[in-house]
Amino acid sequence: MDRDRLKELAGDERFIPGIYNYCDRWCERCSQTLHCLNFSVSEEEFSEPESRDIRNEAFWRKLSQILVEALESLKEAGKKWGIDPEAFESASDTESVRIKDEAAENHVVCRAAGAYGSMVEDWVKRREGLLFETASVGDGGVEIEEAFEVIRWYQYFIGAKVARAIRGRIEEEERGDELAGDSDGSAKIALVAMDRSIGAWAMILHCNSLCAEGALEIISFLDRLRQAVEETFPSARSFIRPGFDRIDLNG
Ligand code: SF4
Repeated sequence: MDRDRLKELAGDERFIPGIYNYCDRWCERCSQTLHCLNFSVSEEEFSEPESRDIRNEAFWRKLSQILVEALESLKEAGKKWGIDPEAFESASDTESVRIKDEAAENHVVCRAAGAYGSMVEDWVKRREGLLFETASVGDGGVEIEEAFEVIRWYQYFIGAKVARAIRGRIEEEERGDELAGDSDGSAKIALVAMDRSIGAWAMILHCNSLCAEGALEIISFLDRLRQAVEETFPSARSFIRPGFDRIDLNG
């Protein structure tokens, strides 16, 4: 996609600004594809099957073209405003980024969110066979498959979004922002993902008690993680995600 097409798309009013920042990236199930610039760019750029395959060279070639175009557009915009983006990078900036990254990674909530992904992986290794074997001979096969898909989709997504929220909060505190913004948005979608994952785990337990071993422990862990995220980001639940949440005029 050339720069002009990218600019043309970016100026299209049907797109909701920033909608892709706080979504769950599950485009196949998204109700807002029509209003998402990210989705439209991907559809145009990755229309060929090989360009959608992460193992194919065409995918990486396409991705790097998009990055080059985006960087060029940024530089162009910078010039217009008299800003040189390359002047931002210095050794002390790099060190400061490293320190903040490390602080975020070591944050207790971040580590717990990462541990959830590993707990699920261990559980799946031990139980997946039994789960689908018993589902195929009894009721609840469809529900189990659906629940399992939800768990798998959010398994690592939760950790990534919690990490983004913590990292964002560190930046906001450093800048002295009075209102948290982006970090609350990331925490909100992490919470939504945890709500849905807990629901999916409950569905698995309901359909197949043989799989209860370990699952209850995971639900309880995820519930505690959810509480910890709510305590760390007390305004996250009321964050309005563009395109997904509505402002409650009565509240
Ligand atoms: S807003 Fe919807 S379509 Fe756009 S990236 Fe997110 S999930 Fe995909």
